[in-house]
Amino acid sequence: MKAAVIRNYNGEISVQDVEVERPRRGEVMLKIIATGLCHSDLSAYEGKIPVPTPFVAGHEIFGEIVDIGEGVTNFSVGDRVIMAFIKPCGKCEYCVKGQENLCENYGKNVLRGKMLDGTTRLRLRGAELNILGGGGFSEYAVIEETGLAKVPNEISDESIAVLGCAGLTGYGAVNNAMPIFGKRVMVIGVGGVGMSVIQWAKIAGAREIIAVDISDEKLKNARELGAKIINSNITSKEQVENESPDVVIEVAGTTKTEEMAVNVVKKGGKVVFVGLPNVNEAVRIYGASVVRKGITITGSYGGRPRIDLPAMMEYVKKGIFRPDLLVSKRYSLEELPRALRDLAEGRIVRGLINP
Ligand SMILES: [Zn+2]
Ligand SMILES: [Zn+2]
Repeated sequence: MKAAVIRNYNGEISVQDVEVERPRRGEVMLKIIATGLCHSDLSAYEGKIPVPTPFVAGHEIFGEIVDIGEGVTNFSVGDRVIMAFIKPCGKCEYCVKGQENLCENYGKNVLRGKMLDGTTRLRLRGAELNILGGGGFSEYAVIEETGLAKVPNEISDESIAVLGCAGLTGYGAVNNAMPIFGKRVMVIGVGGVGMSVIQWAKIAGAREIIAVDISDEKLKNARELGAKIINSNITSKEQVENESPDVVIEVAGTTKTEEMAVNVVKKGGKVVFVGLPNVNEAVRIYGASVVRKGITITGSYGGRPRIDLPAMMEYVKKGIFRPDLLVSKRYSLEELPRALRDLAEGRIVRGLINP
């Protein structure tokens, strides 16, 4: 089968012939319909998320099951499914507590470019090929069933793929910010995850949503969803701080915007960190101000695939959450380098890659 292989960080991406093994116990094989392009794919390509090369990226997968391994009980051949970027083991302390998003065994393997069992099903000229999340920039992928959710027949739009990362991360973030009924919510960074946060926050009952970004184009999308918009490049720090929202959800993932989130939140308010800054960058937070303002700062990583995805699907089915609003453009597998460039230069929110 064909797959887009990243051989070196920032290097050439070649679409190559790759062997794919049959699914093992608890796994299924998908024929990929579409895979979303996420900022983490770009970070992995640039080596900022250091998945060992060579690897196949792509972790927002929508596909049809064509083969199932032993012991798979929840899915059958022919089911259309999406994949969450988190595949929980179901056995560790966190999974047992219902915190699938913090699964220890997933966390151990994902940055090594492996599946839950520490290997992958892809071979390039006989050698094991790594994956980021699922290896979705290819024609087929083998995935653990714990990370999958069925797509109801009523949903035909391929943009459902973005539920697996942007949709799920936004849902998890709003869940962590609850309750937000009647509150003013600021969202810093309105790319794919930010656009997802805005939609879930509206659904959860936010009174007003204030979107902050440095791209007028992205802010335009946020305004179409009814948000008040602020371009932090042209608005003074004092003006932004005057907004004093009850809840701030920080998605941009820079130390500068994390500091902004802590400074801008109202007394007694809550800050949710969702964006991922570089691992070795520290943020400057004044303890005295946290104490005097009585604020809460919390982190939010992804969401719970088996609990959250089926619930999210209901909102999509009813047209209440719109994944298509996150997708700006479609590309072929061969066009992945161009899609990565478009994402790096801020020209798209999410791209969809069709094999
Ligand atoms: Zn992602
Ligand atoms: Zn686990």
